[in-house]
Amino acid sequence: MVNLLQFDRAGLGDFCEQLGEKRFRATQLFRWIHQRGERDPAAMTDLAKSLRDKLAGSAVVEALPVASEQVAADGTIKWLFDVGGGDAIETVFIPEADRGTLCISSQAGCAVNCRFCSTGHQGFSRNLTTAEIVAQLWHAEFTLRRRLGLAAGERAITNVVMMGMGEPLQNYAALLPALRTMLDDHGYGLSRRRVTVSTSGVVPMIDRLRDDCPVALAVSLHAPDDALRDELVPLNRKYPIAELLAACRGYLARAPRDFITLEYCMLDGVNDAPEQARTLLALVRGDGSADSGLACKINLIPFNPFPASGLGRSPRERVAAFAAVLQEGGIVTTVRKTRGDDIAAACGQLAGEVQDRTRLAERGTRAAPVRVERRVAGPVSRRTGVAAPAPVRSSS
Ligand code: SF4
Repeated sequence: MVNLLQFDRAGLGDFCEQLGEKRFRATQLFRWIHQRGERDPAAMTDLAKSLRDKLAGSAVVEALPVASEQVAADGTIKWLFDVGGGDAIETVFIPEADRGTLCISSQAGCAVNCRFCSTGHQGFSRNLTTAEIVAQLWHAEFTLRRRLGLAAGERAITNVVMMGMGEPLQNYAALLPALRTMLDDHGYGLSRRRVTVSTSGVVPMIDRLRDDCPVALAVSLHAPDDALRDELVPLNRKYPIAELLAACRGYLARAPRDFITLEYCMLDGVNDAPEQARTLLALVRGDGSADSGLACKINLIPFNPFPASGLGRSPRERVAAFAAVLQEGGIVTTVRKTRGDDIAAACGQLAGEVQDRTRLAERGTRAAPVRVERRVAGPVSRRTGVAAPAPVRSSS
């Protein structure tokens, strides 16, 4: 049986043709799946009976099994999905007053092995399929729509960030149809500005993404010079900072925004000194020539410590001083709010407390049954459907 979540609309057209049906039927089918969340072909009443019968015998809309769901006091929701073979992945929903952002995983584990990232420490297991990437959005969107009682046409997820487990540009073949499904007006209809791919710097694939499907781009920089970045983000040894920034400048020609977001995880005593802020400032401002500098916003991320890293979180005042150097230099700089701390859903924590459950097969066990933990109180929130979010804590 073919999982229909595997296809963007063009791929679904090919599949319809293989079934001996007209290509345009794919649009109707696509809308049933991605706009109405329908899984049963028999319920897709405006599809030709011949197609419904063929689908019933050859295709499914296969969601990912939920191993657990946790809801943080601030309304953040973390789902752990069993993707088989002993692997599990995580998806995080971050509610805010004016948006609902879903952080999606692209791989089970990650091969890049950034020093400050608990997913990296877990190691790489495998790439996710397009169906597994899209299934995270499908599950979140239609689960939340039901909980919130949203009317037809209202969306629960307004923004997607490919910032969960894995390096999305090292799983490009699966990523591309997933992005197209997110952007498709007959699918989720998200604008390119509201879909962000975050990369540790896979330079050739930044160029490919620019040509194939230019969405918003975030780059995990984390260091102002190659010597330090070689240590923190080992991929830098292959694609050093100068090449990375050149790729980013090239990306801007087709990007939906006129800047690239640079992510910078603040590590105590490692990359958070004022002189490092000045080096970073000089790097992004360049020397005035076209082939230097970068139009960017810088996002400083409070580190979420985990035991194996041997690293600590920069004190607030050090983060503030670092930000001040950049801001006074004319660079828009923000300090990321930490969300979902009580369920280990913040950046870099995605593998942490679930690591034991990502090796289910090795232990000869099955995924734990669905577990819903709601560490919440207060009235039901329209955005999360569970409870009013507690005030957001900021590390700034
Ligand atoms: S930060 Fe991203 S690219 Fe680096 S190890 Fe973690 S998941 Fe992989």
